Amino acid sequence: MTMNSYYFTFGDGQPHHPGYVQVIAPDRITARHLMVEEYGRKWAGQYEALEDVHTNDRIKINEIVYSVTAGDTQRWPCDICKTWRLDSKVDVMQEMLTIGHHDMTFNVKYCADNLDCREGVKGYMNRLTEKVLGAVREVS
Ligand SMILES: [Zn+2]
Repeated sequence: MTMNSYYFTFGDGQPHHPGYVQVIAPDRITARHLMVEEYGRKWAGQYEALEDVHTNDRIKINEIVYSVTAGDTQRWPCDICKTWRLDSKVDVMQEMLTIGHHDMTFNVKYCADNLDCREGVKGYMNRLTEKVLGAVREVS
């Protein structure tokens, strides 16, 4: 399967503006579908080349990769309920923190189809990043 990159931008006043999301998918329809799953309809444009994205918007905020093996055998533990789930049922919340001169990426996996897990993910992420920031403050 050939995979292509698609670039989604946001409009003025929308969350994440200015910035773009790179979606790696087999075709533009699938890319669009993945984008809607993640961001709903709150985005403005779809492009097939980064050069077509307005220079002010060329800040990469996320990358979504179409999973060829989704639904097969790969499983991940949900960070909220600790259950091992199929790849297709797990979403990831990602947050980047800049500590000193280092960028740290935090990934929290959660059940996409479980409301408790979806609602718990933000609090879990906050506690996780607070813990790391606290540890950093202690050593500095
Ligand atoms: Zn869960």
